[in-house]
Amino acid sequence: MDCIFCKIIEKKEPAEIIYEDGYVIVFKDINPQAPIHYLIVPKKHITGVHTMKEDDIEIVGYMLLIARKIAEKLEVNDKGYRLVLNVGKDGGQSIMHLHLHFLAGRKFLWPPG
Ligand code: AMP
Ligand code: ZN
Repeated sequence: MDCIFCKIIEKKEPAEIIYEDGYVIVFKDINPQAPIHYLIVPKKHITGVHTMKEDDIEIVGYMLLIARKIAEKLEVNDKGYRLVLNVGKDGGQSIMHLHLHFLAGRKFLWPPG
């Protein structure tokens, strides 16, 4: 399968990996939109929220738990941070492997544009 995130998971493509376990990998976004911009990616290839199944509920919940743990480590839990899930074309999703953006280190605006 020609998926860049699967290749990063398989260590066939380089990435600045922040954290990894049996279920997820976290690496720095190559084009950061904040001082801290990580991608939390399930090791299972799921195209996106628009195709997730009942079986995927646990991994999606786990991705959020990992976000909280990263926030604790970075000590941004009090200040706040932003999590983003882009879904499909209109949602701005460019990589069709589910990923949660973790952004921190600045104040974010709303609406996001
Ligand atoms: P999205 O637009 O939500 O699909 O987000 C995809 C993100 O992946 C973008 O923020 C890209 O900058 C990032 N990205 C694309 N290729 C790589 C890569 N090889 N390593 C790290 N981040 C990447
Ligand atoms: Zn993939």
